[in-house]
Amino acid sequence: MTTAISNGRLPDRGGREDELSAALAALGLRVTGPRRAIVAALLGSRKLMTPEQLLSTARVSAPATSLATIYRTLERLHAIGRLKRAPLASGAIGYAYCTPEHHDHAICTSCGQLVPIASCPISAPAIAGFRAASHVVDIYGLCSACAERAGGLAPGDDSTAAARSLPDRA
Ligand SMILES: [Zn+2]
Ligand SMILES: [Zn+2]
Ligand SMILES: [Zn+2]
Repeated sequence: MTTAISNGRLPDRGGREDELSAALAALGLRVTGPRRAIVAALLGSRKLMTPEQLLSTARVSAPATSLATIYRTLERLHAIGRLKRAPLASGAIGYAYCTPEHHDHAICTSCGQLVPIASCPISAPAIAGFRAASHVVDIYGLCSACAERAGGLAPGDDSTAAARSLPDRA
């Protein structure tokens, strides 16, 4: 596995307010306390979050946030192409905010960390009788912190991590 993986797309602290404003503007809805808190929670996490996790995080700054508002906001983010969803080890679905331009992901099956892949690992394959238009690549494995906990795997040894961590308790 030689694909470069980078955290480069994640906003640094200085850019977070700008990123939050841009995300809220893209939402195209009136900005309410709960909506702001939900989007801020998504932007502030490097891990996929369940609706319940989003609820408890958002309620810290916006106590009126409801699960219904969480689901409506997630639906809206999906509709504008800014939502990533993927299954977690628990079987729950986790969500993350994504920028709209094409990128694929590496996903830690232990902690749910979502890592954007800097360069697309797919180069248009020739498929007989088919014209491909898009794709989604999710590479499952362990982030370096979880790999270390799992038994001292060298950080960055993605192929070994992926082979060892195929979910078998789903
Ligand atoms: Zn993404
Ligand atoms: Zn992890
Ligand atoms: Zn791709």
